[in-house]
Amino acid sequence: MPPPPSKPAAPRHHYHADMLSVEDARERILSHFSVLSVEARPILETLGMTLAEDLRALFDVPPLANSAMDGYAVRSHDVAKASDASPVSLPVISTVAAGQLPDRPVGPGTAVRIMTGAPMPEGADAVVPFEDTDEEERRKRGDGLKSISVRVPATAGGNVRPAGEDIRKGALVLAEGVTMRPGEIGVAASLGRKAVRVVRRPVVAIISTGDELIEPGQLHEPGKIYNSNAYSIAAAVQKYGGVARVVGIARDTVEALQAALDEAIGGEPDMVVTTAGVSKGDYDVVKDVLSKRGKITLWSVRMRPAKPLAFGTLDAPDGRKVPHLGLPGNPVSAMVAFEQFGRPAIQKMSGRKPSPRPSVQAVLEDPITNLDGRRVYARVIVYRDGAGVYRARTTGTQSSGALTSMALANGLAVCPDDVARIDPGEMVTVEMLDWPEEVF
Ligand code: AMP
Ligand code: MG
Repeated sequence: MPPPPSKPAAPRHHYHADMLSVEDARERILSHFSVLSVEARPILETLGMTLAEDLRALFDVPPLANSAMDGYAVRSHDVAKASDASPVSLPVISTVAAGQLPDRPVGPGTAVRIMTGAPMPEGADAVVPFEDTDEEERRKRGDGLKSISVRVPATAGGNVRPAGEDIRKGALVLAEGVTMRPGEIGVAASLGRKAVRVVRRPVVAIISTGDELIEPGQLHEPGKIYNSNAYSIAAAVQKYGGVARVVGIARDTVEALQAALDEAIGGEPDMVVTTAGVSKGDYDVVKDVLSKRGKITLWSVRMRPAKPLAFGTLDAPDGRKVPHLGLPGNPVSAMVAFEQFGRPAIQKMSGRKPSPRPSVQAVLEDPITNLDGRRVYARVIVYRDGAGVYRARTTGTQSSGALTSMALANGLAVCPDDVARIDPGEMVTVEMLDWPEEVF
């Protein structure tokens, strides 16, 4: 959304030249990740995973032509002229239910009682539903069902589901690379597959650093704060299809951080995420420890929240280089940075295309100001008004410490780095975290 010409660009400070754009940072980060190995999993465990084989049909689905209705299997020719005035009476020679095979063919002038899903008997080419016969009256009269009168004409193929209607034998049904959603899992089951090969889920180890942190469940103490980052980030990892391993809290000391890293690496993760320790004051401890264990650099990313970001690799005992994402400590910053950098890394490792959030254009209801020429991700609620127009209002204070601004939001409204302000009534691009329909 280009700003109106009257509006000044957000002031840029000289150090911005040293800042990475979100896109540059993401690209550098993603270059350290590749698609993980493939494994066989029971189909119900594959929700959201990437299929790593082609699934072809070994038989027709449905395997046999079958009835789409409860009724009578007939030769359409026999009842082509049936009507109320001149019903056609047919002897009922047998019954076939779903799961059974017909025990005899339908010869000229006969019918077989058939249930939905039951295979069509040989000879029959149409099903006349109960309602189009006198079955009901016969029952009421106690006449039995030895024969039946058809009162509506049938045509060839009527109420019959042909064999292979859904899937033809030999057809490529699901191609390698698709994401397993409920429909794909159902299709795999309908092909008779109990397990399929998928790209395994990335394992993400999460370490929280900070002397002020205590764990949820511990007694609340003055001066201490509960470790929320580990949980919001772990939940995001799970939401995006990864396996989260919460290592716990490391104090701001060399020994504590080393011990936590050992524990994290011991779990053979595909990525290590730390929170806090990347702002100028704290960074030294982190840098000291991490540069002994691998490579680490502190970046400034041209975004708000979450300007400071560390990225590097850790050397695992088996020689692997494990990517390490160092998120800022502020709870909102940690989550927003994980959205921008952690989510695409998980997508790439999982065999999915790293893709941005779906975005909508919404009418902004509260101003978004950009103080210093960084891209602003404002936490907003997007809703659809009576006219079907998306509207976005900010979720209270935009402090990077106010985690409720994330909890209340369903999207991140983007104010470009060179736009100083977006006013109420203007359009804004919102990267959706969830859809309004899911939230309201
Ligand atoms: P820092 O990056 O260490 O300067 O931390 C910035 C802010 O985030 C401080 O207010 C910290 O108390 C807070 N913070 C750091 N780590 C966590 C965490 N794991 N959970 C919640 N808040 C945190
Ligand atoms: Mg700290």
